[in-house]
Amino acid sequence: MQFSLGEFVPVADGVLVAVAEPAGVNIGLVVGPSGCLVVDTGSSPEQGAEIRRAAEAASGVPVVAAVVTHWHYDHLFGLAAFTDVPGWAHESVPDWLGAEECRQDAVALGVEPSALVPPSHTFALAKVLDVGGRRVEAVHFGRGHTDGDVVVIVPDAGVIFTGDLLESAGPPDFGDDCHLREWPSAVDGILGLVAEDTVLVPGHGRPMDRLKAFTQRAEISGLYGQVEHLVGRGVRIEAAYEAGEWPFDEATVRAALPMAYAQLAAEGKVPRTQLPLV
Ligand SMILES: [Zn+2]
Repeated sequence: MQFSLGEFVPVADGVLVAVAEPAGVNIGLVVGPSGCLVVDTGSSPEQGAEIRRAAEAASGVPVVAAVVTHWHYDHLFGLAAFTDVPGWAHESVPDWLGAEECRQDAVALGVEPSALVPPSHTFALAKVLDVGGRRVEAVHFGRGHTDGDVVVIVPDAGVIFTGDLLESAGPPDFGDDCHLREWPSAVDGILGLVAEDTVLVPGHGRPMDRLKAFTQRAEISGLYGQVEHLVGRGVRIEAAYEAGEWPFDEATVRAALPMAYAQLAAEGKVPRTQLPLV
């Protein structure tokens, strides 16, 4: 696995982004008068340490806090390099560190699972952070890409770090741990804050504008709606791709269908080819 970190590049006044590989994840840097904040921490403790050094070199001030937008490895695993400052995340994130999915991700990356650390500070809905004299807000708008997505807002710069609720490097990542029906509502929380010139920094890919974000919200909603429609028509999963009209490419849809069918089944929505007798 090839780990590397690109340069921090400004996207607004005192707000920078660097790309960390192997996941192509956007690492945010918010620079306050006397301290800076790192948004997402990379895929390993070592990469977290490299991010921290680069953030302090680029900003000229010490890191005073880190925020993790959700539990996925490329955002969380570097948090081990920030244990002497507050490390913030949604309150659901610590439980994921004990989950088998997380352990498997660590092993696949060559990261010792015992080297990972949970966030030192968590919240349920929202938290205002003082970043060396600059106000930053962290908000959970509900379940979506995961059960604990956090959006980081820099009000004075008009920048919002969306985590993987939005993506511009490709389609959103519809993992088994996403909450497909609720996801559009979480994006609505972001869209409600967006002005004409707001810069949206997605979890992966280049900054997005309002139109792109609205479009992606509609596509995510369309994926759920299409599966719900097919299930209502009695279409089984094996025939779903051919029977549907899809907002994403074939590989993305086929990968998402088992998750979508399972989540609809959990809501009591399963394909029926005959009307119930009662
Ligand atoms: Zn993710």
